[in-house]
Amino acid sequence: CGIVGYIGQKDSTEVLLKGLEKLEYRGYDSAGIATLNTDGMHVYKVKGRIAALRDKVDPAVTGEIGIGHTRWATHGEPSVENAHPHQSNNARFTLVHNGVIENFYEVRDQYLNGVALKSETDTEIIVQLIEVFFEETQDVLEAFRKAMLALKGSYAIALIDQENPDVIYVSKNKSPLLVGLGDGFNLVASDAMATLRETDRYLEIEDKEIVLVRKTHVEIQKFDGEEVVRAPFVAEIDA
Ligand code: GLU
Repeated sequence: CGIVGYIGQKDSTEVLLKGLEKLEYRGYDSAGIATLNTDGMHVYKVKGRIAALRDKVDPAVTGEIGIGHTRWATHGEPSVENAHPHQSNNARFTLVHNGVIENFYEVRDQYLNGVALKSETDTEIIVQLIEVFFEETQDVLEAFRKAMLALKGSYAIALIDQENPDVIYVSKNKSPLLVGLGDGFNLVASDAMATLRETDRYLEIEDKEIVLVRKTHVEIQKFDGEEVVRAPFVAEIDA
């Protein structure tokens, strides 16, 4: 029931694991992280505790961009297959999601006929939808936007594209998500508490906005593409 993301100049793994530990209080049944480096995407998932995830992660694998998730299962039992991050079938897109997609069956039947699903989650249809829309548009941001427009329900989402280590795609609707601002790095978190050890400067994200989180620049836009300018706030340090 929490999300953490990092893009910057150091290895993301420890930021993600520490962040997920800070989010443990929210409750969860499974957890996972994905990090991207020049060898590709590395995904680790466990049923159970963050401590077990920490044991599973290969310390030799580093990635300067990564996303992490704690899951509170709503669609599909707690299991490794249903844990996040989820990947599209071509493995290009990797995504974490908190919330519930209410039109999950409709989206699947309308757009994902013939797409083999690997999990029982409502989440997997989001990432498969992004792959389908990417095949149509050849534009990742446009595919992400089209997927968000097709969804009904609650979501906080972070997506990484294996072909582009320079951006985390983020959106939300009725589920909490913030962007943390650093010097040469930026973060995504469900709760500032997850990443206070990295920064105390945060940007609110409103429902139905898309945020492109890069190492040195954060761009917020509405679903129609209109750019949004917003000042950061300083979170109280209580660590
Ligand atoms: N509905 C999603 C699932 O069951 C996300 C649950 C969550 O918010 O952790 O996998």
